[in-house]
Amino acid sequence: MKKITLLLIVLLVSAMLISAEGEKIITQTSTVNAVLKGLYDGEMTFGELKKYGDFGIGYFHKMAGEALAVDGVFYRIKSDGLSEIIKDSDTTPFFTITSFEANTDNFTNRKFDYDGLKEYLLNMMPRKKSFYAIKVTGIFDNLEARTFLSQAKPYPDVKQVIETQTEIKYTNTEGILVGFYTPEFLEGIGIPGFHFHYLSMDKTRGGHVRTLNVNSVTIEFIEITRFQIILPKNKEYQDADLSMTKTMKKDLRKFEKQ
Ligand SMILES: [Zn+2]
Repeated sequence: MKKITLLLIVLLVSAMLISAEGEKIITQTSTVNAVLKGLYDGEMTFGELKKYGDFGIGYFHKMAGEALAVDGVFYRIKSDGLSEIIKDSDTTPFFTITSFEANTDNFTNRKFDYDGLKEYLLNMMPRKKSFYAIKVTGIFDNLEARTFLSQAKPYPDVKQVIETQTEIKYTNTEGILVGFYTPEFLEGIGIPGFHFHYLSMDKTRGGHVRTLNVNSVTIEFIEITRFQIILPKNKEYQDADLSMTKTMKKDLRKFEKQ
């Protein structure tokens, strides 16, 4: 009798694990409208964030650089474009993460600029109202990236953060684009459309992608339909008016497209 009970428990637990693993989920900390409102303080630690996946992009506490995770390693791209490993005790004000295990591996030797690549990806995606986690590997003829400078309190608005961003040009650089496609109607909660951060193959440099040109790439992606948000509990977040105004929509375009 005991053996049968034990067997049932084992079967039940295995079934639960399989279903949890089969359904991929995207986890996001905070919402992008909070960042647009100047809430640059990190709340969740990267140590905590690691529980939700091994692949993702986002911001760093005080907006100091750009952040990304690939193969479970978390990198901060500093204002000079050089990377450093993020400590578990460091925090993020906004990050999107998942477990990346692509079921597609697509090689193409077509020539792309950034818009061309986005269009190509869009055509590959079976549904436009799902999320996609996307990894693009290749040798980029050129790639322009940006990183933000660390901000000091009282925090300036996003326009000033954009004005002081560092722009870095890479040529003939081999590396990985780590990013997501977020359905357009989630603007304000997330960053609508495509959003990529770059990491060189030797993992030493990168940044938020502004433009690129590439001759051949390998594309891996996963469609994800489950999405969870972990909202901040801090007072600034609770007190902020987070409704998306026209100005915020304009700021968001500048913020993530430039
Ligand atoms: Zn970015």
